[in-house]
Amino acid sequence: MAQQSKNILSEIQGVESEFEKEVAAIDSVTKLETVRIVFLSKKGKLQSLFSHLGALDPQERPLVGAELNRLKNRIQEDLLEKKSALGSAKSPVDSFDPTLPGKTPSFGTIHPLMQVLGEIENIFMGMGFRVEEGPEIETEFYNFEALNIPEDHPSRDMQDTFYLPDNYLLRTHTSPVQIRTMQKQRPPVRMIAPGRCFRRDTPDATHSPTFHQVEGLCVDKGVSFADLKGVIMAFARKLFDAEVKVRFRPGFFPFTEPSAEYDFSCIFCSGQGCRVCKNTGWLEISGAGMVDPAVFGFVDYDPAIYTGYAFGMGVERIAMLKYQVHDIRIFYENDLRFLRQF
Ligand SMILES: [Zn+2]
Repeated sequence: MAQQSKNILSEIQGVESEFEKEVAAIDSVTKLETVRIVFLSKKGKLQSLFSHLGALDPQERPLVGAELNRLKNRIQEDLLEKKSALGSAKSPVDSFDPTLPGKTPSFGTIHPLMQVLGEIENIFMGMGFRVEEGPEIETEFYNFEALNIPEDHPSRDMQDTFYLPDNYLLRTHTSPVQIRTMQKQRPPVRMIAPGRCFRRDTPDATHSPTFHQVEGLCVDKGVSFADLKGVIMAFARKLFDAEVKVRFRPGFFPFTEPSAEYDFSCIFCSGQGCRVCKNTGWLEISGAGMVDPAVFGFVDYDPAIYTGYAFGMGVERIAMLKYQVHDIRIFYENDLRFLRQF
């Protein structure tokens, strides 16, 4: 090896041991920066060694160059290590910046469906109704038969559901809770049954296989259709506003006779006709009617003494009207941009 190369190699060694001493003595960021300039800057010690490379024997250049690069990398790594060591050694008091904006804790909100459900419950509780609950997994007996829907009844098709083994199914309405409540107690009964229901519907803007319902039931001596109309009217005016009108149309449900569909006058156009009510002035809400005496047979109430009315409503339908939501699916998507608005 030529003498010139030997000289540079020994210089490299000298610079390395010099650097080792310097880096060990670093105790501040300022000192670290000084050392960096001495060794790595454009006029630093390493650069001056690199500048000698060109004068070397071409065969020896790669070896010396590799040695120089090794030292350069080592210096860079050691300085980085030193830098992070200096950073983490800082006391928490030094690194606390009181001028930074604080982190706002995010609070959840009550889901819009549950808000509406709570409102419905409050209105009916104010009229003396009790809130009753029942299982979401029901038997065919409670979901259909005891509600006067025998096995071959066509209305079962409209309520096709998810069946489980041993004649269990996911309830298609909360009406089974009415049967369970009547089995437990004698009249007078005045209850609502809020809860989750299931049907084999394909999801679209107005259908969901999972939805929420509130069903109401009142059984006592001398209860008439006029009481039903009064209660629905009072509910509509409490929920929306004092001007809402209620209209009943003939309908059919196996567990009520006579049965009716009820509508509210459109809350958006006051019955004048608009896009939401499809220019009819009315919003379809749900069904109601007088309890069919056959249902009383299943719970051992005497229909010669007692009469009653029942009504239902979809929580999603009311929430959609109340908040002007046009697609039912958005309630179940857990999209925080939607949920944060409530
Ligand atoms: Zn309207």
